Amino acid sequence: MNNYKQHPRRRYRIKKGKKVRAITTLAIAVVCVVALVALLLTAVVKIFGGGADEQQLANNENQTVEASKAKEYNLPPASEKNDLLEIVRTKNGSDKKICYITFDDGPTNDVTPQVLEVLKKYNVKATFFCLGKMLDANPEIAKREYDEGHLVANHTYYHNYGDLYASADSFMKEVNMTQDKIKEITGEEPFKLMRFPGGSHNAGSYAAVKQEYKKVLKEKGFYYADWNCLNGDAEATSRSTEELINSVKKTALEDNLIILMHDASTKTTTPQALGSIIEYLKSKGYEFRRLDEIDYYDTGATDDNNSMIL
Ligand SMILES: [Zn+2]
Repeated sequence: MNNYKQHPRRRYRIKKGKKVRAITTLAIAVVCVVALVALLLTAVVKIFGGGADEQQLANNENQTVEASKAKEYNLPPASEKNDLLEIVRTKNGSDKKICYITFDDGPTNDVTPQVLEVLKKYNVKATFFCLGKMLDANPEIAKREYDEGHLVANHTYYHNYGDLYASADSFMKEVNMTQDKIKEITGEEPFKLMRFPGGSHNAGSYAAVKQEYKKVLKEKGFYYADWNCLNGDAEATSRSTEELINSVKKTALEDNLIILMHDASTKTTTPQALGSIIEYLKSKGYEFRRLDEIDYYDTGATDDNNSMIL
């Protein structure tokens, strides 16, 4: 009886044991599957979510690099094309009217600060073609130009035509000395941009050698910039503000202007006329930029981060 009685119970226990094992196995399997799915989901999130963050960071970083490149180097390499006036005129970028105001022969401690005040008032950034010897005399003014967002560029060291244009060596020596001086003041590797004293395009006693030096500049990776608009402040000892304004009005004929002005100590009317000149150019639809901000290539730069491809 006992056996009889016990037997079904045992069978029951056996059956129950099998069922428990089956449930346990099933539960373990479910837990495993859930864990696996969770693991997979985590991996997916990590790859696509975390990856997206990294991608975004990389994009931001690239964008910063590209933006600074675009700002300083959206130009053909100087080793291929180094005439900035030609580059400005033929640029492939937007069809905006752009004006690049330039000042030669400074920095001086009298006229340059007045020029800087006017530029600050109108929030206009300009390019200063500085002489090495004037950088020696007024480094703090050049530092102020730099600190206030202007471009400090190279107009050779002594500006003495006879010595400067004597040979390619003497010419490049002055260019390099001035470049070193700019670097010493700004603490940055300067944009390789110079302006020939007297201009590169002017016929004259040094016209032939200047053509040779242009090639040397190209080999050394330097741009040079002439002008296609001027206030005429170099043409007489003292010009009235009205004459300076009229000269710009007469010569501002193209959509892209490089304007020649001077901030030497004798050019006292130049800062006085500058505000009216800026207002005139603004009324004609011009924007103002530094000469290292030429958008030669159409980057398609918009608010869309991905469209900025150089
Ligand atoms: Zn000059």
